[in-house]
Amino acid sequence: MGSGIGPLLFSYNEAMKRLKRKCWATGSLIVLLIAALVMRAFSRAITVMSDTRLSGMTIVIDAGHGGKDPGARSQAIDEDEINLKTAKKLQRLLEGAGAEVIMIREEDVDLAPADAKNAKRADLKRRVEIMNQPQVTLFVSIHCNISLDSRVHGAEVYYQQDNENSHQLAAAVLERLRSVTNSKFQPKTGNIYILKQTTTLGILAEIGFLSNGQDLSALQKDEHLDEIAYAIFQGIDDFVKILE
Ligand SMILES: [Zn+2]
Repeated sequence: MGSGIGPLLFSYNEAMKRLKRKCWATGSLIVLLIAALVMRAFSRAITVMSDTRLSGMTIVIDAGHGGKDPGARSQAIDEDEINLKTAKKLQRLLEGAGAEVIMIREEDVDLAPADAKNAKRADLKRRVEIMNQPQVTLFVSIHCNISLDSRVHGAEVYYQQDNENSHQLAAAVLERLRSVTNSKFQPKTGNIYILKQTTTLGILAEIGFLSNGQDLSALQKDEHLDEIAYAIFQGIDDFVKILE
């Protein structure tokens, strides 16, 4: 009788199903492997591209305030600490892209000599000296803002007056910071000691308002500072691309 064919057919169908599953699994594995290889090559290409663009450049990162001068303060949150965290994140990104980075400070310190009569002025003077070194390509000073109007929010970027390159660098960095910080500002220039006293190209980025609730809570999050650092990094890269 044909009683033996049923199980045979069943096991044949099962075997085919298993084979298909196996093929599908192997196929997926191959697709995943190819995707991984493509992504690796792509990320390498990006690194190499950035590398050639930013390598050879010396960039000064100035984490505003520190030491005796905590900068702006809101709800026991000090500006100097946020500035330093962001500066260190930016340092990693720029060094990763092949740039030489000079950090104005890497700890909670100021640069004024202990016997300085005007500590704030002496601190700023020392920062300017570091920025004005001949090997420096550009500098970025990082600060947080404060306003009497708690509604004011978002990043602002200041440029050196009558310096078209500084204006363009500020515009490129602000363009990237706008979406990250929900900013509606345009690049600005103002009576800022560091921007007036430097002979090298630079900008000052105010990365958010400590006086605004949303900005303040965002600025306390590490991921937000990662995004800000990456936006500044991209802005610098965009600016260098324009110059090429
Ligand atoms: Zn400041």
